[in-house]
Amino acid sequence: MKTETTIQGLNAALAPARIARKTIGFVATMGNLHQGHLNLVREAKKLCDLVVVSIFVNPIQFGPNEDFDNYPRTLEADSHLLADVGCDVLFAPTIQQMYGDHERKTTVSVHGITDILCGQSRPGHFDGVATVVTKLFNIVQPNTAFFGQKDWQQLAIIRAMTRDLNFSIDIVGVPITRAEDGLALSSRNAYLTAEQRQTAPVIYQALTTAQQQLQQHTDLQQVLAQIDLTLVNAGFVVDYVKAYTPDLLPVTQFDQDIVLFIAAKLGSTRLIDNLLVKFSD
Ligand code: AMP
Repeated sequence: MKTETTIQGLNAALAPARIARKTIGFVATMGNLHQGHLNLVREAKKLCDLVVVSIFVNPIQFGPNEDFDNYPRTLEADSHLLADVGCDVLFAPTIQQMYGDHERKTTVSVHGITDILCGQSRPGHFDGVATVVTKLFNIVQPNTAFFGQKDWQQLAIIRAMTRDLNFSIDIVGVPITRAEDGLALSSRNAYLTAEQRQTAPVIYQALTTAQQQLQQHTDLQQVLAQIDLTLVNAGFVVDYVKAYTPDLLPVTQFDQDIVLFIAAKLGSTRLIDNLLVKFSD
């Protein structure tokens, strides 16, 4: 595996593949890699000739009181994990390499679907994500890019942005990787105390219970209220418990597929999860 820290270096590393018209798969991450990230890379390896993974803790997607400074940075360990799953090129740029010294005058802003869910609790977050993903798409120029369904809203935003801005990139959504007890893997799980880690799977339990209730036609608002109560009783501070269509539109019919979304805090750690409830075949 090659590791590149500059755009120039990355271009040189990818030049032979571009000339040979090999397909390039791309996985964007903030590092501190776990099996969730590695499953994106495995999926990319299946579908593309060559896989590029970026590790970049993007400052502009963090709010002023968020965990940018403390975000776990484990490049050495990440690099070994990536080599083991067959990543071809690791792109690990500095902030200076990505944003330079000049004032940034352009922001990519996706409208509407960024105003709900995490967009409401984290103002500006998705502008930061859309901007850095646009930059990374332009730098890497992949044929296919892989994003986790763990961040369902992010995936929907990137799909919309890719369509609106005519990126010739296929966007592939990869299912959530979970721990054995159901907790969605996340770099932020490392912030949990042992006791909080025991409580955390309640999120997934509440989602699967809700899924069963909805498939037995229990009223949606009642089901959402029950999830909220379950979380509060377990000690979470709930940010949101919501349902939208897979495209993030309001739910209007009872027989359409819906996605249940949760964001909740255990202590200072904010966890998110979601579950697709299918009504169609
Ligand atoms: P992050 O490093 O948190 O920015 O995540 C990088 C990519 O990995 C994003 O596309 C995430 O949606 C994806 N990802 C993170 N955790 C998981 C997980 N548990 N299952 C599937 N994808 C994940």
